[in-house]
Amino acid sequence: MKNICNTMGYISLIGGAIGSIVLAIDNGKVAEISYYGVDYQRSIPMTIAWLIAGALCTAMTCIVFFALSDILEKLETLEYYRTQSNSAVGLMSDEQLNKKILSEDGWTCKKCGRVNYSYTGTCVCGCSKE
Ligand SMILES: [Zn+2]
Repeated sequence: MKNICNTMGYISLIGGAIGSIVLAIDNGKVAEISYYGVDYQRSIPMTIAWLIAGALCTAMTCIVFFALSDILEKLETLEYYRTQSNSAVGLMSDEQLNKKILSEDGWTCKKCGRVNYSYTGTCVCGCSKE
């Protein structure tokens, strides 16, 4: 979802840039009615005005997408910390916690069978790691 938003941001940036130029070329003209009919002439202020309007719309769309992507990324980080702290406060079952400790180089005590963290040198029963 985060990557989709990021991609959408870039797509709207490129699309918006191209769109703004096309709009400016297409609409930056003033109609002048002359004796021979309607004559379209390029108006520099009009072209610039359309270009600025297009750029502003593009910028707003991009900001929305990039902001969404940023929010989603922060939510993912929050979710990560939430699951991390779950094990610390005991929301994880003992079996899950033991598995997690063992996957992080933890060790099982030979004497009492307790699973200890890798940084723990001595088990609560007094048996040492080696
Ligand atoms: Zn032990």
